[in-house]
Amino acid sequence: MKLSTVRRLTYMLLALICVMLVLVWYLDVYELVYSAVTLVVLVGIVNCLFWKCPHCGKNLGRLEKQNHCHNCGKELVM
Ligand SMILES: [Zn+2]
Repeated sequence: MKLSTVRRLTYMLLALICVMLVLVWYLDVYELVYSAVTLVVLVGIVNCLFWKCPHCGKNLGRLEKQNHCHNCGKELVM
């Protein structure tokens, strides 16, 4: 999976989690808490599995756009 796709997917999941928590807050739909927790776990799994350098295989850390890997220094294509 491309790094830009991983980043976009993670941001979409985080936005969905925020929407769910707002709905829980305003509408008292507490069942959405379980879905939000599941999405948090999914974000963690996606981050661990796919947010890594294609050269050295180490995790890239923050979800910001990066031009170079902070572990090996090679250029990243995002
Ligand atoms: Zn690297």
